[in-house]
Amino acid sequence: MKKLLVLVAAVSAAFAHAQSFPSKPISIVVPFAAGGPTDRVARDLAEAIRKPLGGVSVIIDNVAGAGSSIGTNKVAKAAPDGYTLLLNHIGMSTMPALYRTLPFKVESDFEYLGLVNDVPMTLIGRPTLPAKNYKELVTWIGQNKGKINLGNAGLGAASHLCGLMFQSALQTDMTTVPYKGTAPAMTDLMGGQIDLMCDQTTNTSQQIEGKKVIAYAVTSAKPLTTPALKDLPTLQASGLKDFEVSIWHGLYAPKGTPADVTAKINAALKVALKDPDFIKKQEALGAVVANDKRIEPAEHKKFVAAEIAKWGPVIKAAGVYAD
Ligand code: ASP
Repeated sequence: MKKLLVLVAAVSAAFAHAQSFPSKPISIVVPFAAGGPTDRVARDLAEAIRKPLGGVSVIIDNVAGAGSSIGTNKVAKAAPDGYTLLLNHIGMSTMPALYRTLPFKVESDFEYLGLVNDVPMTLIGRPTLPAKNYKELVTWIGQNKGKINLGNAGLGAASHLCGLMFQSALQTDMTTVPYKGTAPAMTDLMGGQIDLMCDQTTNTSQQIEGKKVIAYAVTSAKPLTTPALKDLPTLQASGLKDFEVSIWHGLYAPKGTPADVTAKINAALKVALKDPDFIKKQEALGAVVANDKRIEPAEHKKFVAAEIAKWGPVIKAAGVYAD
C-alpha cells in the first residue's frame, strides 16, 4: 500500500510538473563561444521559441571548448526537467568518431527535440592573402606548404571537419589552430594571425559582404542564392569532386526529460520554425530553416544516426583522434 502511495505521488508530481512547464527560465547551452555561428542560431531561436513557450525567458549559456564536447556533456549530465537544453550542430555526429573517449553517448544520453536548420559553409581567408580567387588560392597553398595556418573551433567542430576534408582533398597538411568557437577565430583571421578557415555562412556572410575576409568558395553542392554569397563557386565546381559539407543544428534535452515536457518543447520549436522573422533572419545568413520530417524527434534521431554512420568512416580514414 505504501509503495502504491509513493508511486501515485511520483506520477502526480511528474504530471503537475509537465502541466506547469515552463514555469521558470529555460537555458539553452551553446557549446561554442558567444558571437559565433552556433550562438547566432541559438539567439535567433531563443527569441522565436519564447512566445510559443508561454513567454518564459530563454537564456543562452555559452559553455565553449573541446570542439563542443564540454557544453554537450554539461547538458547530458543536467537535471532532465526541460530547463536545460542543448543546441549543437553536426558535431553531434562527428564527435563519436573523433574522440577516443567521450563522457557522454550521443545516441542514448539525450532526448531529441527536432532539427533547426541546415547551413552551408564557406572557405575564407585573411584579407591580406595574395590569392584573390580559388584558383589563385590553390597555387598559393602549393607555394606555401608547411607554412599555412587553418583556424577551427576545436576537434569535433564543423570548421574542423571541413578543414580536414579540404586538406585531404588537396593532399596538403596545414597547421590547425583551435579556438573555443569560430567567433574568436574570425577575429584572428580578420587580423591576419591565421590564414584560412572554413565556417558556417551564419558567421561569414556579413564579413564577406563587408570585405573583411576573402571568400573563395562554398561547401554546398549547388551555388547559394543569398546576396552576399551568390557569386561564390562551389568547391565541387572548382575541382574538388564530391566535396560537400552541410552543417545542421538540432535541439536536445537530457535523457529522461518527461515526454510531456519534450512534446511541449517540440511543439514550440515547430511554431518557432514557422516564425517569418526567424526564417528571414536565418535566410539572410544563408541558412535554411528546417521544414521537413527531421523536425519530428524520432526523425531527428534517425538523421543523426545516419550522419554518425556517414562521417565515422571519413574521419577514421583521415586518422585524426583526440583523447
Ligand atoms: N562554427 C563553429 C564550428 O566550427 C562553431 C561555432 O563557433 O559556433 O563548429
